[in-house]
Amino acid sequence: MDIIDSHAHISATPDHVLELLTEMNRLNISKACISGLGSMFDSVSNKEILETVEKFKPRFIGAYFIRPGVTSALEIQDAYEQGFRMLKAVIPKKPYSDQSFYPLWGAAQRLGMPIMFHTGLVTVSESSPRDIILSLDMHPIQIEPIANSFPDLNIILAHFGGHWAKDAAELARMRHNVYVDITGELDGWRAKLDEEGLDKYLWWKNAFQNVVFGTYIFPDQIKQVLKQDKDRYERLNLDEETKEMIFCGNIKKMLKID
Ligand SMILES: [Zn+2]
Repeated sequence: MDIIDSHAHISATPDHVLELLTEMNRLNISKACISGLGSMFDSVSNKEILETVEKFKPRFIGAYFIRPGVTSALEIQDAYEQGFRMLKAVIPKKPYSDQSFYPLWGAAQRLGMPIMFHTGLVTVSESSPRDIILSLDMHPIQIEPIANSFPDLNIILAHFGGHWAKDAAELARMRHNVYVDITGELDGWRAKLDEEGLDKYLWWKNAFQNVVFGTYIFPDQIKQVLKQDKDRYERLNLDEETKEMIFCGNIKKMLKID
């Protein structure tokens, strides 16, 4: 089965890209959707992401980092023309649902770029400016009006909403264009969710068909994350079709790739 990592960040650490590629080769991960969140997250820039995508074609898909309230719709159009195929949104200046951001979502829908929204609490680097960040602006339910207003826009709620996992799950249940990823630190809330049983949240028939695989963590932990995920889906007796959707099918469909 093909595996695509739909949620990978490139940190400012030297060799991150090469280490990621090494792990991808070792674990048969064919592609990774990568983004750089800039200095506020000790991460690389959009420009560096584009260079990486071009240098290692066809292994990476560029996800363009946007900060709603800072990024313009025109910038999204430019990003698409440069070769980005996905958007990664985090730390909006106002709630994601704010009407003033609608041109961004409209541009993404028109260009066929799926958006991965960070949902849940967020931590920025120590050195970042003292910007006011309210994680409630990134609550999964902030995405509801966006999903309603842009029915052809594919949306991924990153980190399964964090501690708002129940809300993220219910939105994915009720909206055809909303998916979740179950990324997070190895010993963080992922482990807690597995202890509780993820099927408590994803409880309805075919609920797991709304999940996309992503790693999010540093390359040296990817092997463990992949194993944890595979073991979980084995334990939950998911059928092959559903596993295929999680590990590559959903993201391929969103990005229109084979
Ligand atoms: Zn992320």
